[in-house]
Amino acid sequence: MDKLEDEVVKILLIGDATVGKTSFIDRYVKNEFRNRYKCTIGCDFMSKTVLRPGSWRSYLKLQFWDIAGQDRFPLLTRAYYRFVRGCIVMFDITKPETFKRVKMWKKSLDMNTEKDSGTRVPCILVANKADLPDHAVTYAEVDRMCQECGFSEWTMTSVKDGSMVEETISYLLDVVLHRS
Ligand code: GDP
Repeated sequence: MDKLEDEVVKILLIGDATVGKTSFIDRYVKNEFRNRYKCTIGCDFMSKTVLRPGSWRSYLKLQFWDIAGQDRFPLLTRAYYRFVRGCIVMFDITKPETFKRVKMWKKSLDMNTEKDSGTRVPCILVANKADLPDHAVTYAEVDRMCQECGFSEWTMTSVKDGSMVEETISYLLDVVLHRS
């Protein structure tokens, strides 16, 4: 019997510089955390093949696209958004200015991906760096942002500890797969 092609699921991570996007992908794909900051130029992606939830023999090829180095230029080309199936908008819970720009990132996603039918790409809001003290944004504020901007859900992660990273991707996949 021919092997089925793995279904490709392109997932975009967007948000301000230094909020932890590259680290999140590293943690999920390679299960490691590097305590340094490297600003790469251009966009890049990493893949991880996982079993399709609820199946023993069909696989999903998750492609994580990072906007490394372009965080200050949110006018990413439409090509970058092409074929996106799911998205994470990330901010740093200790840096309120990164939270304020969440709205702009979500709008940019919607503008570049909205179909004629008005359907939007499923998107999760992620508050990262939960391990640090001095959280500068309240849960109520995140709740409100989540509702106002049409996110599917919000989660709080610490990429450093690895907490809620797997769960965030599982949740996003659930929404993405039930959408198609
Ligand atoms: P990006 O610019 O959004 O891709 O951010 P990076 O992934 O390069 O991370 C920027 C910095 O934040 C690096 O020094 C990371 O080690 C650090 N960082 C990322 N996630 C966390 C986290 O959950 N907790 C802490 N304490 N530091 C983190």
